[in-house]
Amino acid sequence: MAVPQRRISKTRKRMRRTHFKLQAAGLVTCPKCGAMIKSHHVCPKCGYYDGKVAVLNGKVVKEEKKPAAPAKKAPAKKASKKAEK
Ligand SMILES: [Zn+2]
Repeated sequence: MAVPQRRISKTRKRMRRTHFKLQAAGLVTCPKCGAMIKSHHVCPKCGYYDGKVAVLNGKVVKEEKKPAAPAKKAPAKKASKKAEK
């Protein structure tokens, strides 16, 4: 079993532990209602995210996919070509 070569002194231990601290969560104001919310999260007060309704009456509102966006076709697999031959 691995054993530390030297005992860590009180000072070394305490110096290391000076960095063990809690940090405040990154809060931002909701652009819709002005409440303090976590960034990149749906606002729990008004249910908006990125300027759109994300949650309405406790239900997730799904966005419809844009038809204008071209669908990406997956390239043909080489394994399937070998199987045909
Ligand atoms: Zn809000």
